[in-house]
Amino acid sequence: MSTMTGVILPGNSTVEFREFPIPEPGPGQVLVRMKASSICGSDIRAIYREHLGKGPEGYQNVIAGHEPCGQIERVGPGCKQFQPGDRVVIYHISGCGVCDECKHGYMISCRSPFRAAYGWQRDGGHAAYLLAEENTCVPLPDSLTYVDGALCACGFGTAYEALRRMAVSGQDRLLITGLGPVGLAAAMLGKALGVTTVIGTDPSEARRALAAELGLVDHPLPADADALDQILSLTGGWGCEAAIDCSGAAVARELALTGTRDWGRCAYVGEGGTVSFEVSKLLIHKQITLYGSWVTSLKHLEEVVERLDRWGIHPDRTSTVRLPLQQAAEAYELAAGGQTGKVCIVFDE
Ligand SMILES: [Zn+2]
Ligand SMILES: [Zn+2]
Repeated sequence: MSTMTGVILPGNSTVEFREFPIPEPGPGQVLVRMKASSICGSDIRAIYREHLGKGPEGYQNVIAGHEPCGQIERVGPGCKQFQPGDRVVIYHISGCGVCDECKHGYMISCRSPFRAAYGWQRDGGHAAYLLAEENTCVPLPDSLTYVDGALCACGFGTAYEALRRMAVSGQDRLLITGLGPVGLAAAMLGKALGVTTVIGTDPSEARRALAAELGLVDHPLPADADALDQILSLTGGWGCEAAIDCSGAAVARELALTGTRDWGRCAYVGEGGTVSFEVSKLLIHKQITLYGSWVTSLKHLEEVVERLDRWGIHPDRTSTVRLPLQQAAEAYELAAGGQTGKVCIVFDE
């Protein structure tokens, strides 16, 4: 077999299947047989509905899917770390490798024209095979499943990076606005880091119910006009020591700040849109540190999979929809509906 079927996103809320040659790994490259390849909110926001992205989010009609995980099938000349059979998560951006950001492992922030994200500017994981740079692969510990790995490639990595930057610990209660896949990731990782109470808000009843059912959010609240009062009454009138917005919605971003305790930390990871708030009242006078955090670094991706292995916890619990590649249209439709847990394309073992 020399060809494979890959998924293209034309940008009108449909998916298209096309045949592609199975790529040949060149120097420093590996051919990865896909096992799990999940769908991200960014795929929906910037590609599936319409091609909105520019620059690093500009979609170039490549095979979609930037959360790939699989097993190495072949290695090209000069590979230094991996062998056929190794299980790997793929950090979803291949940077130039020589700029300041790349040297720190933040290939996400690389501004070189050589930067290419899988599923955006170079072929991604919605096909049987993916051609990856060896230096973007991270070993997947044996205790983790391929779905665990796919979920770390973007969503869990994003949540981990923000929690890590806020130095979230057992001293904190955590407020999460937006209980989609990244919100659930923040809840799971926050608990593992020792957070005593997780309060979460979301307008979707189904998402609140899932967060409660998984035991990840202690207090799932509707994202309505009463939310702030409820957050304050659950925290002795103080608010939470740490907060993270995973929704990208303006009201939720504001709620994340108003629900943060004085001297607390707040992070924005939900993408898109705008926000306006009273800076003196909500930020300056409350002495809050506000972080913007974009995905994670290669090193921190490696770190989060190592921690998950040690903690014995599984991101795949948050993936409630798993479909084969042939049902990619249904998978994207469900992901766009915003009512489910993480949607993941899975391949035969
Ligand atoms: Zn993503
Ligand atoms: Zn770079």
